[in-house]
Amino acid sequence: MKAIVTTPGVKGSVHLGEIENPSGWQDVQAADGHPAEGALVEVVEVGVCGTDQEIANEGYGAAPRGRDQLVMGHENLGRVVSAPEGSALKAGELVVATVRRPCPERCLPCAAGQSDNCLTGHYTERGIKGRDGYMAARYVEHPDYLVPLPATLARIGVLMEPSSIVEKGLIQAFSIQRSRMPWEPRQALVCGAGAIGLLAAVFLRLRDLEVAIVAKAGAQSASARVAQAIGAQLLDADQHPVAEIATELGNLDLVFEATGVSAVAMAAISATGHDGVCCLSSVTAGARTVSVDTDALNLDMVLGNKLVFGTVNANRRHFEAAARMLGAASRRWPGALDQIVTRRVPAESFQDAFQRQPDDIKTTITFG
Ligand SMILES: [Zn+2]
Ligand SMILES: [Zn+2]
Repeated sequence: MKAIVTTPGVKGSVHLGEIENPSGWQDVQAADGHPAEGALVEVVEVGVCGTDQEIANEGYGAAPRGRDQLVMGHENLGRVVSAPEGSALKAGELVVATVRRPCPERCLPCAAGQSDNCLTGHYTERGIKGRDGYMAARYVEHPDYLVPLPATLARIGVLMEPSSIVEKGLIQAFSIQRSRMPWEPRQALVCGAGAIGLLAAVFLRLRDLEVAIVAKAGAQSASARVAQAIGAQLLDADQHPVAEIATELGNLDLVFEATGVSAVAMAAISATGHDGVCCLSSVTAGARTVSVDTDALNLDMVLGNKLVFGTVNANRRHFEAAARMLGAASRRWPGALDQIVTRRVPAESFQDAFQRQPDDIKTTITFG
């Protein structure tokens, strides 16, 4: 069956190839050659993000042990073909698979089902690190890692994986803050209007916060339409630098940073208000430096009781929470989130999906 495969570390090696068995088959294979306890899932579509770009163009990622090729893709949406006996999954049901799998050492968080907090770094990730991904006609996965979705989320279910990361960050921000003090946040700032930034804005609006998004996105862009639909303010980053934005907006109770630019992340920390929390989610793989007034930054953190934390990946609990948030968002703003998926490209033309176009937010590759 067809799959989009790459040889990690070899630039330009991404191609549409053929694989003998459903992706991930090896990991759940029983002695008789049938999946032992895996569900068989046919892929509907898979989102492309910066991580996939890095795997394709910058040599990031790792093939499964003993092989040199990796099936790409982690932001998946599929439909159950068959599920093992006794599992709650039903044939025909929409599902999204989580991405990370626990480390072989079973460190404390991994043993507790929180491989997103893995301590050893020896975790694997489907489509990224040591495990085949979801850019294939079909894949196999253990039901523990499959999260069912209602049919009503068919158009936006592919946003589940980025949604899970956002929702994890927000769940943590709220629970940490409320363990520190009485906290009723009113004003939030989101830096960046990519899929992660927009989803953060959506989930913050669902929590009834005033939301401003600072981004390099024009007034006519798809991001601007999404912002308008959900009642968030979109500010042009060139006219409203993050470092100065608190004077415009007032005390920022929560700042969610998702630009992929470390200088903005530093500014986001400074912009965070008194008793505020700053959630950093950008993976910045470069080696850029900025100079920071450390006396001012430290003083501000201390006198402002500020909290800054980073977040990456998500576990099953966060995927389930993301499904609830996407459902609530699609009821409150029908059609708004559909606009985050700006292009759908068939697997045969997958190269087009890896080529960024000016108004792209989320591009997906469709199968079947
Ligand atoms: Zn991604
Ligand atoms: Zn671990």
